[in-house]
Order: sequence, then structure tokens, then C-alpha cells
Amino acid sequence: MTSEKRFVAGIGDIKALTLECNNCKARLTYSLSEKTGAIPFTCPGCNVEWRSPDYPYGATEPKVAPALKLISAVYLLRFRKDDPEQKPVGFSVLLEFDEPR
Ligand SMILES: [Zn+2]
Repeated sequence: MTSEKRFVAGIGDIKALTLECNNCKARLTYSLSEKTGAIPFTCPGCNVEWRSPDYPYGATEPKVAPALKLISAVYLLRFRKDDPEQKPVGFSVLLEFDEPR
């Protein structure tokens, strides 16, 4: 019998979100210890477009890229989890990872 170790983490366990430019690999890290500013429209390293200024990046906008929806959802779960205007769900999202090698 083999055993595998896995890590399970909740949204509250995420320390930071790091965006890595697909073009130049520059990274921009947002700490999740407090609410931070908006994602820039262009890469701070090479100025390639990171997101279109034409679209907002709310989690429910149909034309928004999935990566932006994920970031928006993490922020909503982290900072507005108890917002009475949002209909609650009966579960928490947990992320599971293989043990680092
Ligand atoms: Zn770049």
C-alpha cells in the first residue's frame, strides 16, 4: 500500500497572489493581508497588455478572462465573505495540493 501526503488549504490560507507576465516573466505580488489596488492594465516590466481596459473584472462578467474572475473571486471570498448582499453558500472552498518534492 502506498500513501500520499496532500495539503488542503482554504482561501484564508492564501498569503499572496502573484501575477507573472507571460511575455517577460516579471512578477507582481499582491499580499492578501489587506485589500490592495487594482491589477494594472499593462505589465510593469515590459508594458505588454495584461487586461483590457474595456472590461471590468467582476467574477460574473461573461467576457472576463478566467484568471481575472479567479482573482476577483478570491478577493470576494477573502474580504466580503460576510457581505449581507451576497447570497451565502453552504460550503467553503478548499484547495488541495500534492506534497512538494
Ligand atoms: Zn512583461
